[in-house]
Formats: sequence, structure tokens, C-alpha cells
Amino acid sequence: MIPFNKPYCSGRELKYMEEVCHSTTMSGNGQFTKKCHKFFEEKYGFKKCLLATSGTDALEMCAMLCELKPGDEVIIPSYTFVSTALAFLREGAKVVFADSGAENPNVRSENIEPLITDKTKVIAVVHYAGVACDMDAIMSLAEKHNLLVVEDAAHSVDSFYKGKPLGGIGHLGAFSFHETKNISSGEGGMLVVNDERFIRRSEIIWEKGTNRAEFYRGMVNKYGWCDMGSSFLPSEFNAAYLWAQLEQLDDIQNKRKHIWNMYYEGLKGKIDSEITIPELPEYATNNAHMFYLLCPSLDYRTKLMGYLKEKGIQTTFHYLPLHSSAYYQDKHDGRELSNCDRYGDTLVRLPLFYELTDDEINIVINAIKQFRI
Ligand SMILES: *Cc1c(COP(=O)(O)O)cnc(C)c1O
Repeated sequence: MIPFNKPYCSGRELKYMEEVCHSTTMSGNGQFTKKCHKFFEEKYGFKKCLLATSGTDALEMCAMLCELKPGDEVIIPSYTFVSTALAFLREGAKVVFADSGAENPNVRSENIEPLITDKTKVIAVVHYAGVACDMDAIMSLAEKHNLLVVEDAAHSVDSFYKGKPLGGIGHLGAFSFHETKNISSGEGGMLVVNDERFIRRSEIIWEKGTNRAEFYRGMVNKYGWCDMGSSFLPSEFNAAYLWAQLEQLDDIQNKRKHIWNMYYEGLKGKIDSEITIPELPEYATNNAHMFYLLCPSLDYRTKLMGYLKEKGIQTTFHYLPLHSSAYYQDKHDGRELSNCDRYGDTLVRLPLFYELTDDEINIVINAIKQFRI
């Protein structure tokens, strides 16, 4: 069986976690946490990074920093993971779902603009599969209407829009290091603060509403309770695990891109012409987070996935549109989001992980080539 995913392990994870065992700091914000922050701040020029216990928690910190009031509206894609919506709902905001574009699952500024009202405070975008949304158009829309932009960059480590790193373009960004992402710590995430106005408060929210981070830096001589917050920081064990992966980031990315390119070259123009293969916009880089196919219908996808399963190949579909979920369908305003529904019905993801061999990739390619409904 060729599995859909297998978490990557660099081999140094246990060594670094053992170092934590023998050190004086096992809770958060120790040496490995600082190394991870520095890595991202230096490599990508992010102003401020704070590791979090998950991408969901990083999004929750973003939502808290936006200081939403009940009735405020946040525009988000419907084709995304639940956490993008949950973070803002927990702050009492109303979530307004935007449709995806026709060419890929990303939201487009044309789909966002008509949803802006005088209650709108935030636009949250998801760079699906690590492929950038058209950020120039979205940022100028935000500027025109005085809105904040939160980038859900959960898929987007080491990916760029016109040379700018994803997660570093909006006012705030959130990464995930869940085991299904390019680099992982089992569960993990990171908040990125790009607008300086939010830096001080982000550290306080991160440290249970206290100014402990400033105290550790010697900026204040005692620390206390100053604001809302929670325990968003991960332990040093998680940071040590993540560090072992970050050290291998270039190797991981090169391997994933090799797999992605093999799929692309092997499938393009060589399979049932009813299946669509992703093409990247010219402004976006490929971080090879995912390789997906778009089938002509739900029935076609069900048959293709069943056929591949019989051949020992595990594939998966992806998001169920949030606007028609059991939890939200009664709260949604009833607008049809037809592109989102289409991705919900027809998108299928192929196996893509570090240890996937060329032979296995060819097995997948050949199986899809032979498939006819
Ligand atoms: C994975 C993911 C999240 C949540 O990240 P966790 O680390 O699992 O909490 C949020 N948004 C998107 C788009 C994701 O893919």
C-alpha cells in the first residue's frame, strides 16, 4: 500500500529532545524556541515570530489581536479547514464566506469585495496548497476599506508571492506544523506579526496575559497580569523536534518539489482529458505542499479513488465546504458558492511525502494514466 502521507523524521529529533531533558527549561520560550523564532525571522524577514501549540492556536492569537467586537464581520474562504473560521467565531465575530476562484481554490479579491460592509474588520486568506493568493489586489482592497489581513499560511512554509514570503504579507500570519504539513512537530504552529503595532500585545497574549517575555529580556523588573491571553506557547520538547526539521528544510523542500514535478510531468497531457492538473499563477512559487487533481464530477472522483485504492494507492479528498457544514449552514446567508462546492466534490490529493520513492511515484502515475471511467 502506498499511503497518502508519512510524517518526515530527520533523525535528530530525539537527540534534541534529550538535550531538553538535561536542560533547565522544559516549558516554553527556551533555547530551542528562540532558535526556531530566529530561523524564521532571519530567513524570511518576518518581524516577530511566536511558536504556538498548533496552527489553530496561532489563528486564535491572530483573531484576538484583531480586537473584534460582537457583530464585526470577517471574510474568509469557505473552502478551508475549520480552524480558520473557529478562531474568529470564538472572538464573537460573524464569519462571511467568500467563494474560491475558478482556477484554484484560493479566494480572489473580486469575490471578497462585494462582501465588504461597514461591519467588516478582517479579511482572512488561505494560500491553498502553498500557492499564493493574489496579495497585491487583496492588500489594496484592505487598505481602501481600512481592514486587517490575516494570512492562514498553514500550507505555506517557504513559499512566496512576487518574492515576498507567504505569512509575511498581511498584518498577521499563522503557520501550522501539524504532521500533515511540510515540516512538523506533531502538533504545532506559529504566529507571525508583520505590523509592529501588534508585537507587544502578541507576546502578552502568548504568555497567559502577562508581560513575562519582557521580564525575561530584563525590560521590566517584575511581571504581572496585563491583558487577555492563554497558554499558547509550546514546550521546549516540541520546539526541539521542530528545530530538527527546520535544519533540514531545504532538503525536505527539494525532495517534495522533485515528487511534485514528477507528478506534473508524468500526468500532464497523458491522462483522461476530463481530469485537470493544477497550474500555478505566474506570481506564485510552488512549495510542493500538495499535488491535487480535479475530477469532472463527484461520481468520477469516487470511482477514481476507489480504483486507486484497489491498486494499493491511498488518496484523499479535502475540505468539506464550511458554509454548508452541520454547524454553520443555518448561520450562512444562503449565497451559493459554486466554485467552493466544486472543489469540495472533485478535488483529490495524491500521496506526497519525503520518503516516497520514484518507483512509487511511477506506480501512481501509471495507474492514473490507465484509468477510464
Ligand atoms: C492544518 C490547517 C490549519 C490548522 O492547523 P493545526 O496545526 O492542525 O491546528 C488551519 N488552516 C489550514 C488551512 C490548515 O490546513
